[in-house]
Amino acid sequence: MCQKEKPGGYPVEEDPVLQSIRAAKTRLGMAQGNTLVVCKADLATAAQKRARFEKYLMWYGLLGAGFLLLSVLVSRSLASIALGLVGAAFVLLLSVAVYYPKVSAPPAAGKPAAKVEARGRGKR
Ligand SMILES: [Zn+2]
Repeated sequence: MCQKEKPGGYPVEEDPVLQSIRAAKTRLGMAQGNTLVVCKADLATAAQKRARFEKYLMWYGLLGAGFLLLSVLVSRSLASIALGLVGAAFVLLLSVAVYYPKVSAPPAAGKPAAKVEARGRGKR
């Protein structure tokens, strides 16, 4: 995650955000085909950033849901409900600004897997 290629590290979990970033990169020809890992030095920061993202996601999710509910309640037309939907989706998208992937191996359980080490060294 810190743009350095290091042996070892903790793999991050695949999720929709990561998948769409990867799909976009593939389309732009920027995909490096590397496995994303978080190195040991960054584990604490990674956990902090992930927690921050999850907090934002929760609050934006609630905000978006509230916004959508309100637009459904006050609107009389399908178009304004659709607008509410777009607004709710936009609010959710704001949380992507602080997006950080989840590290799949918790530090407590953690020694870096040998398999990941081999993959992390590959390419370039
Ligand atoms: Zn790192």
